[in-house]
Amino acid sequence: LGTPSVPTRLAPRRSSRKIQVGSVAVGGDAPVSVQSMTTTRTSDIGATLQQIAELTASGCQIVRVACPTQDDADALSVIARKSQIPVIADIHFQPKYVFAAIDAGCAAVRVNPGNIKQFDDKVKEIAKAASAAGTPIRIGVNAGSLDARLLAKYGKATPEALVESALWECSLFEEHGFQDIKISVKHNDPVVMVNAYRQLAAQCDYPLHLGVTEAGPAFQGTIKSAVAFGALLAEGIGDTIRVSLSAPPAEEVKVGIQILESLNLRQRRLEIVSCPSCGRAQVDVYKLADEVTAGLEGMEVPLRVAVMGCVVNGPGEAREADLGVASGNGKGQIFVKGEVIKTVPESKIVETLIEEAMKIAEQMEKDGIAS
Ligand code: SF4
Repeated sequence: LGTPSVPTRLAPRRSSRKIQVGSVAVGGDAPVSVQSMTTTRTSDIGATLQQIAELTASGCQIVRVACPTQDDADALSVIARKSQIPVIADIHFQPKYVFAAIDAGCAAVRVNPGNIKQFDDKVKEIAKAASAAGTPIRIGVNAGSLDARLLAKYGKATPEALVESALWECSLFEEHGFQDIKISVKHNDPVVMVNAYRQLAAQCDYPLHLGVTEAGPAFQGTIKSAVAFGALLAEGIGDTIRVSLSAPPAEEVKVGIQILESLNLRQRRLEIVSCPSCGRAQVDVYKLADEVTAGLEGMEVPLRVAVMGCVVNGPGEAREADLGVASGNGKGQIFVKGEVIKTVPESKIVETLIEEAMKIAEQMEKDGIAS
């Protein structure tokens, strides 16, 4: 079956310093990681750990939990200890929760410069505590909560305003010798967001956490995030990503992983190459593609399966894939690695493809080609 092809990337990664978020390295040569955020009350330890377990199963590598109350802060140590993936505490307004999160063993703490006026005189102590514990800080600038001073200076949350806010906050920590930092400058408009990250990338070497904030419901948010992350990642900018959707967090992770796979920043897993159908189709392509996708769900090997509606592009695409079908005249020609291995009646196409996919996957696993 051979080995999977060497991934081709659009641009070299921007060189950034590497930080360690628990067991996950972010920046430098570390692979771009996918993160999400829980939607449970953090103080509800059982529900939060349950959601973290679901996120972990969906491929999430780092999880963030909100910490707006003392009860939430009190829950952090159990959550940080029991979570299978690094936990970042998300803190606004209250410096005391930053210390609580560091003491609780959180892998990192996110603070927001716009919401941390009262942090100013605490930066030295936070830097000292975070340094002693080896806990990185994410400076998380958000268009919706931009510092009033910068809002007055720029009139609105422009890319320049977001970047100035982030770098000013970094400088407060740098004054105390603390550089264990990653940064985000999120905006809900992908154009502003992309410009902000481009400017930020040129002005510092901190690792960058990409996000389009309040991107919206699943469909719109997926597209906004894919477009914005795609533009930046294609230029080598971005070290960790969080897709923000008004949808269950596991959906965010699926989208994030798909974005990285699309750009070859991560080994592709199952990929269905299916045609859009047209007046030449001799089979219900949508149904066939859906059934094959459902039948192969969860497959972890980098398998490319072509589902084509007719003989125009069908055989060509099917030959390029690990496995494929080209349909016509109520039959399907099944291809494995470019060879027609059999022709089956239309009613047997799905089961034959699944059967053959399983055989190939088993061989790939034996050969150590799992993603
Ligand atoms: Fe149309 Fe055939 Fe192309 Fe599918 S493979 S879009 S059916 S021409």
